[in-house]
Amino acid sequence: MPVINRVADFADEIATWRRDFHENPELLFDVHRTASIVADKLKAFGCDEVVTGIGRTGVVGVIKGRSSSSGKVIGLRADMDALPIQEATEVPYKSKVPGKMHACGHDGHTAMLLGAAKYLAETRNFDGTAIMIFQPAEEGGGGGDAMCREGLMERFGIQEVYGMHNMPGIPVGSFAIRPGPVMAASDQFHVVIEGRGAHAARPHESIDPIVVASHVVTALQSIAARNVDPLHSAVVTVGSIKAGDTYNVIPQSATLLGTVRTLTPEWRDLCEERVKTVVQNVCAAFGAKVTVEYRRGYPVTFNDPERTHFMAAVAKDVAGERNVDTGIDPLMGAEDFSYMLEARPGAYIFVGNGNTAGVHHPAYDFNDEAAPYGASLWARLIEAGMPAR
Ligand SMILES: [Zn+2]
Ligand SMILES: [Zn+2]
Repeated sequence: MPVINRVADFADEIATWRRDFHENPELLFDVHRTASIVADKLKAFGCDEVVTGIGRTGVVGVIKGRSSSSGKVIGLRADMDALPIQEATEVPYKSKVPGKMHACGHDGHTAMLLGAAKYLAETRNFDGTAIMIFQPAEEGGGGGDAMCREGLMERFGIQEVYGMHNMPGIPVGSFAIRPGPVMAASDQFHVVIEGRGAHAARPHESIDPIVVASHVVTALQSIAARNVDPLHSAVVTVGSIKAGDTYNVIPQSATLLGTVRTLTPEWRDLCEERVKTVVQNVCAAFGAKVTVEYRRGYPVTFNDPERTHFMAAVAKDVAGERNVDTGIDPLMGAEDFSYMLEARPGAYIFVGNGNTAGVHHPAYDFNDEAAPYGASLWARLIEAGMPAR
């Protein structure tokens, strides 16, 4: 069973919506234009209820099946926001906004879920309620968290929730998924080392924050190498060191910025404790003062094994058995759909974007040929998850 014929019928329409979003990218929670188009379309499709302003600019469309005696309610989620990147493609629908572009394919995610909504509102060939969730601010703003905090799950009675992201590098018409952790938790640390400045030729009068910072960076490497079980994964990366202005002065202070990525709550707790302990004690050894600010970001995106199995079966139905990889490695990137998966069981799948530039690259473009697969997966998931009587 390939893509749903009726969905394929309006593939051109989905591409038109997608290209319009692509031309008009919006950042974080400021997705007002996108959200209002989404809401208008959901109403035009005949959704039973369309609610705006959840999580500031989130939109929800409710579609009831021909019957709802099963009492089942399944949520499907897309993200709507773009990135602060200058587009470097020459496509005719290139971003019209300088410094902003849809470099993560959320234009495609929004259009695919709209395509599924159109089909589901037209056919209603299921027994239960489908909830179409369009969230703002996936790229660092925690829009998924904001929607959950405003009672998304409770208000619509959502029992299970599913997400989808495109993946460059795997063929169009294929899907990839895994049970358990699929994307990492992402935390940040901000370290300010306070030493004592001096003339570069009189180092004995200083507490050199550059030397201290260098030891801190080296010591931090031991966390992933010597504290985390080698059969598990963790990333501790220092992405910025700032200290000093010239060649003959030992500066007063140094600032380090970094990120920690982990795949389980246990290793996340351990890494946080180790980062603080290592930084504080290395600095103390050199007599420098230090402040460590450790901020937790998106949690681990955890695929419920049973729902993953179900979602993979639906993907195989749409794309064919051999085009669905059910055992991909987890990614150390982060995803704020994780908050929805903390609130309700569900799963997150990747849809092939073909041989395009990677996400967050200025030459990236969502592949419109992937949309019928993604939209068909959404539609089938509702029909298979809440079969009509
Ligand atoms: Zn992204
Ligand atoms: Zn993304």
